[in-house]
Amino acid sequence: MDARLESIKDTVLARNPGEAEFHQAVVEVFESLGPVHDRHPEFLEAAILERLCEPERQIIFRVPWTDDSGRVQINRGFRVEFNSALGPYKGGLRFHPSVYLGIVKFLGFEQIFKNALTGMPIGGGKGGSDFDPRGRSDAEVMRFCQSFMTELYRHIGEYTDVPAGDIGVGGREIGYLFGQYKRITNRYESGVLTGKGISWGGSLVRPEATGFGTVIFTQEMLKTRGTSLDGQRVVVSGSGNVAINAIAKAQTLGATVVACSDSSGYVVDEAGIDVDLLREVKEVERGRLKDYAERRAGVSYVDGGSVWDVDATVALPCATQNELDGDAAARLVRGGLLAVGEGANMPSTRDAVAVFQEAGVLFGPGKAANAGGVATSALEMQQNASRDSWSFEHTEERLTEIMVGIHDRCAATADEYGEPGNYVLGANIGGFVKVADAMLAQGLI
Ligand code: GLU
Repeated sequence: MDARLESIKDTVLARNPGEAEFHQAVVEVFESLGPVHDRHPEFLEAAILERLCEPERQIIFRVPWTDDSGRVQINRGFRVEFNSALGPYKGGLRFHPSVYLGIVKFLGFEQIFKNALTGMPIGGGKGGSDFDPRGRSDAEVMRFCQSFMTELYRHIGEYTDVPAGDIGVGGREIGYLFGQYKRITNRYESGVLTGKGISWGGSLVRPEATGFGTVIFTQEMLKTRGTSLDGQRVVVSGSGNVAINAIAKAQTLGATVVACSDSSGYVVDEAGIDVDLLREVKEVERGRLKDYAERRAGVSYVDGGSVWDVDATVALPCATQNELDGDAAARLVRGGLLAVGEGANMPSTRDAVAVFQEAGVLFGPGKAANAGGVATSALEMQQNASRDSWSFEHTEERLTEIMVGIHDRCAATADEYGEPGNYVLGANIGGFVKVADAMLAQGLI
């Protein structure tokens, strides 16, 4: 790492002790930014990096609620409003027991660059709670969401901060959150949340967008090597919203997705995952992958273990951070891997990224490859602002244009900085320069 950046990084890490994931996200970005600071000494003078690493505002709050047996439960809520140089803070809410400040900050930090890359007018933020929705009834989830919003409402708004979903937060949760916001404020402010239902201000394609976008980005990377997804053998990790829609899109483009996973194990389905059955099990029944395997002939279920033990030419990690380490990466490379498109946020460890890059595997980092979700959220905000709703075809066309644009910008930036094919560098520099320019223009705030 560049010596000037190294000392800024040391200060950031020391000021934010115990936030391992945030440290990882910061280091990964800083490693790309040396050459930018050679060309733009004004960024150093204006302390852009120091400012970027310090969220504009961080909110941590108590979320009390009552479970179905009448017991009081207490969770912790977070919203980190990281950077508003390009627009209102924008980013999802994650409900998962692993959530703590370090995770929210890593996600919020990544979101700044991701959102800049989309070309849409959105800043970066993220939030969530250590609440675990798994095994909770709809009524419990509703009471939790209502309590969460009873604090959050005072910090958000269509011009201020626009939350959406992430792990553990889908259409059901956004519905309860929106209802409570509307009730407290007495405003039908559609643009305050994205990921809404179609009949009440949501956008078509938003549910599919992250997974679809990841596959579109991966297809663009493959095209630079004169190939495509057609005929590829794909392994996807996860089986939530991002994974399911990545599987659907990859298969539409002619690939065979032979495996996917959940936190208990993985399935191998050599005929190609049956997306309708997967949706039924995961989205309708809120069940486990084991149930998928039991209902389909020729499928094996592996309890525990790693889905990355399955050979593939294309890997789409769509589960969660740090799910793919250096050993898994090396094994995938030995198995003939051509490309990785990250549907999740930071699913590959730094060791894994190094292994992929040394082996010449096409590697699309999450902040570029999975930006289709938040980009379509920005399209939802556009529709809300103009009180319009677009067709599926039109919205998907916009998503495709945006993803191809992100790919091309990352590739062109990597070329410009003398590292053709390095999408990590392209994404980090491409996103950073846009935000840094806006911060310079807006003065010392
Ligand atoms: N949680 C998603 C992400 O990681 C989407 C955020 C949004 O739509 O605002 O980008």
